[in-house]
Amino acid sequence: MIVKERQVPLRLLKLAALQRRLPEGHTKLQGVAADLARSSAGYRGEESVDHYLKFLPCDAYLILHDLRLPGTHGFFQMDTLILCSSTLIVLEVKNIAGEVYFENSFEQMIRSSERGQEVFQNPLLQAERQAWQLREWLKRNEYRDVPVEFLVVLANERSLVRADTKLERVIRSASLPGRIERMNVGRHLSAEELLGLSRQLVESDQPADVDVLQRFLIKRGDLLTGVHCPACAGLPMQYRWRSWHCLRCGWKSKDAHVAAIHDYGLLWSSQVKNAQIRTFLQLDCDQLTRRLLADMKLPYEGERKSRVYFIDKFEKV
Ligand SMILES: [Zn+2]
Repeated sequence: MIVKERQVPLRLLKLAALQRRLPEGHTKLQGVAADLARSSAGYRGEESVDHYLKFLPCDAYLILHDLRLPGTHGFFQMDTLILCSSTLIVLEVKNIAGEVYFENSFEQMIRSSERGQEVFQNPLLQAERQAWQLREWLKRNEYRDVPVEFLVVLANERSLVRADTKLERVIRSASLPGRIERMNVGRHLSAEELLGLSRQLVESDQPADVDVLQRFLIKRGDLLTGVHCPACAGLPMQYRWRSWHCLRCGWKSKDAHVAAIHDYGLLWSSQVKNAQIRTFLQLDCDQLTRRLLADMKLPYEGERKSRVYFIDKFEKV
């Protein structure tokens, strides 16, 4: 049973918005695009692993996706955590294309592709550290002696994997259901305790909200305002006769501003006043902006010019 569903990570949404809002030729565009590509591949890998977890009997396993808990040295994040009566299993998912070589003597993972060789930290170390932090979290929350296991799951079925030693805890996603079933031996937690623990884990989850502009040292003033065309991504569309018009491809849209307002929430602020959105959408009429915002049914506080609207950063548009 899935207790916590996987959501598109906020970081990924922010990077995609940032890429859309950087002008062509901006010095940071390449770095943002590379980070976005890496994060998207990671997310796609996690999603593909979720498919195999569906083969587990749903009454015996509780599954929590993308959990970020307070640890003794800052937060720690787990791609997936599986709870069953015998143990807790931390999954660290890697979606890496090309040839992957685990060199355990130096605790590193080397990826070879047409772009050459890249060295990464051994994901086993990462997963081991997460398992250790989870054990500490459990102790602090009065769950003593609950075993915690970990696995590194390789989501890319076409990658070629080699290693200098036998890797017990590195597996392909297709082997995941069988492996988890074999790990579920013995009984440490009752069904009631499992449910209670899963609830406590979900309550303790604190999703990361990174400032991507600060991370790339990009000034807000560098970002493009306006409404993108949903057909050709042209910017800005113009509003006339109750529709947005694309000057590049001729596309018309009634609601192209919704995606732009979502970008505003991701990169500027999730709390916004009418005048700020009017400038951002490049509109010249307060009344029209108010109507567009009212149609979106955003929650708000206050009246008239001091009214503040709240944009849900996670909302899909
Ligand atoms: Zn267009």
